[in-house]
Amino acid sequence: MIVKVLFILVMIGTCVVCKPRFTIGGIFYEDAEDLKQAFNVSAKMFKFNTLVAEVPRTGEFLQISGHVCEFAKAGVVGIIDAVGGLATELIQALCDTLEIPLITIQQNDFYLKDWTLINLYPSPDAFNNLLTQLITTKGWKNFTLLYVKGHSMSNVHKLLEMSTQSDNMFTVTVRELSGDDYRDVLTEAKDSGYVNFVVDCPSANLEQILCQAQQVSLMSDEHSYIFVSPDLFTLDMSRYRYGGVNMTGFRLVELQDNNPLWEFTSSYNAEAPNILQPENLKTEVLLIYDAVLMLSDALTKVNVTTQELDCEKYGSWAYGSTLLNFMKTSKAEGLTKSFHFDGFGQRNNVMIDVLELTPAGNQSIATWSDNSLNMSRPKVLATEIGEETIMKNKTFKVLISKTAPYGYIRESIFKLEGNDRYEGFTIDLIDKLSDLLGFNYEFELEDVYGNQLPNGTWTGMISKIRDDKADFAICDLTITTERQKGIDFSTPFMSLGISILYKEPSKQPPEMFSFMAVFSKEVWYYMVFVQLALGVIMIFVGRISNKEWQNPVPCVEQPEELNNQFSFANSVWLIIGSVMQQGSEIAPIALAPRIITSVWWFFTMVMVASYVGTLVAFLTVEKDVMPFTTVDELYEQKHIAYGAKTTGSTIDFFKYSTNPKYKEMHNKMVSKGWVVTDNDIGVDKAEKGNYAFFMESTSIEYTKERHCDLIQVGGLLDSKNYGIGMKKQSPYKRYIDSALLLLKERGEIQKLKEIWWKEKRGGGKCGEKRDEEQKKLGMRNMLGAFVVLGVGCLIGLLISILDMLWGVFKRSVKYGTTFKFELIEELKFALKFSGDIKPVKRQPKELSVIENDLDLEKKDEIMSLRSARSTDTHRTHRSHGSRHSSRSLSVAFARRRQYT
Ligand code: GLU
Repeated sequence: MIVKVLFILVMIGTCVVCKPRFTIGGIFYEDAEDLKQAFNVSAKMFKFNTLVAEVPRTGEFLQISGHVCEFAKAGVVGIIDAVGGLATELIQALCDTLEIPLITIQQNDFYLKDWTLINLYPSPDAFNNLLTQLITTKGWKNFTLLYVKGHSMSNVHKLLEMSTQSDNMFTVTVRELSGDDYRDVLTEAKDSGYVNFVVDCPSANLEQILCQAQQVSLMSDEHSYIFVSPDLFTLDMSRYRYGGVNMTGFRLVELQDNNPLWEFTSSYNAEAPNILQPENLKTEVLLIYDAVLMLSDALTKVNVTTQELDCEKYGSWAYGSTLLNFMKTSKAEGLTKSFHFDGFGQRNNVMIDVLELTPAGNQSIATWSDNSLNMSRPKVLATEIGEETIMKNKTFKVLISKTAPYGYIRESIFKLEGNDRYEGFTIDLIDKLSDLLGFNYEFELEDVYGNQLPNGTWTGMISKIRDDKADFAICDLTITTERQKGIDFSTPFMSLGISILYKEPSKQPPEMFSFMAVFSKEVWYYMVFVQLALGVIMIFVGRISNKEWQNPVPCVEQPEELNNQFSFANSVWLIIGSVMQQGSEIAPIALAPRIITSVWWFFTMVMVASYVGTLVAFLTVEKDVMPFTTVDELYEQKHIAYGAKTTGSTIDFFKYSTNPKYKEMHNKMVSKGWVVTDNDIGVDKAEKGNYAFFMESTSIEYTKERHCDLIQVGGLLDSKNYGIGMKKQSPYKRYIDSALLLLKERGEIQKLKEIWWKEKRGGGKCGEKRDEEQKKLGMRNMLGAFVVLGVGCLIGLLISILDMLWGVFKRSVKYGTTFKFELIEELKFALKFSGDIKPVKRQPKELSVIENDLDLEKKDEIMSLRSARSTDTHRTHRSHGSRHSSRSLSVAFARRRQYT
């Protein structure tokens, strides 16, 4: 017996020792540390040896073939490609020849259906189908597709087709996000009134898009987003949770009861600098694990022996295609759920969780599997809302408050009764909800919104709802954590934040040097730099252009020296003359300086026109001089009082703030009696001056429409929402939520807001306040002119160099010297940048023998007559003998010019 057991143990031991450790290769970008780490960790977990190849992001893909051949030589059983794009095509072509299984984890932009690889990233078909079904379920009739420049649109191409469908029900707008700053595009989208967005971008851009969308106020309760990237909910979304924005995203991983995920995460964290939670692991990281798992799973079922392959010999691995086909057909389970591939290795049938961001965190609302969307959240559809709901024909008591514009007492000469006594935004909103849900209502006034007292009891509306004295509370009732302990709130119907209401200060005339403010600082700096640089270029180009070297004495045919007008002083004078629009006497002669001068004139024309056009506004617009522009500045100063409503979420913000400055401000407001009992008193005080009133931005918007001398100072101190209050666990919540969402999606709430803010009860009195603040002209506005100048200078420079080379060549032939010698001579002279006189070069002696025989005095006379007619004789040569007489003629001519 003992012998038998020992024998079995020895056999097991031997098998463990003899089991070969296979090697797998991984190709990564150099900086993809997380993926390399996931690869090494997973390989360790599944007992593989690894070979890692790194490639730069600059696209030097040729070295990739070298890496694949090295892997083949080492006898790998599979290659994992984390690079994607064109590189995948290259790797795949080689793996195809070598018959090494290739698993890629990147979105396949070059989706060709004859590839012999496995792509673990869900196929574009899956995303396209999911997105179209989701948009149809959401009932969007129009949406904007935001995509990042350079990112493949293969996942969303079906959405573009939605607008061309025969029934033409969808309006699809496409906007490209490029560069680092997307705010211009996002602001444009906001101004165009777009509210539904589908965002397709690499996971690396998600954070930036979210942040910038929030900065341009595109994250309020009226906006809805669908993010295509399955990494949305790997980010920390806490800052967007309470803004009311509707955000939908996808997730591939199952977080519940997923032991392998926890094991992988702890092994991954053991090697990582930061500890990550399973939900924070990026999809690519999970897919690396899944790729290794797939290989390991296949190798336990298919018996293979490794083989060292040589790319040069076009060898192939005998087991490669069997292994690949096995992986394509086996329906293994990974971190990203079960793998189903079509015959081309594309992961079409994929399971995806559809999540939505709610104030309570992420919530799964649907699942995508077997090519269909199964909604898991009971969403009351628009068509169902009007039908038999449990609210139909019931009568509810609704608490309202007398706070403009949410609730007013109706003014009438008749005696009004019941609900007719009231009007306002919330009264109309309840009316619309009752139309949708079929209930009746009865209003009751209650001006105290309510909160919890230290003894645990509740006040105002909250207490009435808790005690069943009322069913709903609707006014500017802010959703707060404290109130949420006592009652439930509906989905938000309006988003806001605390800001400051203050009297507009008197205007001050522009400053003494406001004419300088037309251009931004950088434009001025570039102008000065460009002028200096152009001065140098003009001198250089002038010196190397043959035609610029002129005979100073036109009547002397063979002068001793030639003259050049492009001295430093002249060049600068020409440049400044054109900036000042005055011109100068200096006129370039050669082609190159003429081109450069022309583009400079064009540049100055554009700059001067832009300057003059904008200057008037800068000299006339008077500016507000604000005593403070932020809360911090308000806190620092001693002369202005500030306050908020005595009870409510605004004063509570200061009271419970962890910021000591805000706490101190609260103490000061209370101790000095600066708090007020309602918003109207606060507005009156602000209007009298020297009083800053902290108010909710929605109420500030309303006040500004009616009190034209009041303005909002600074941004929002926080971000919150109004909701309809109701009893905890209210059975009506889901109906109210759905009806509110429907009203939001139809734009009804926005319409009501326009009416009650800008039209009724004195709205629209102040009109649109013109933003008189003049915008400086920055480099962004003037860049075109600088580019034209730069290109023109380059062309001029090129032509002048060609001109110089031609002159050098001619001289080298004429004087029997080498081209190089003449070129060095010419450059040495040109680059001296000094001396505008150039001695004329003489011919070697042998060549001048014949000329020596001539009567030189006579020849000079004849030639000088000729040269008087021609102005562009520039290079002459002459003999020793004529030198004396020519010089004396030049001197005589110069003297004569001086005297006349
Ligand atoms: N909306 C606030 C609340 O619900 C009242 C107004 C305010 O505090 O500014 O308490």
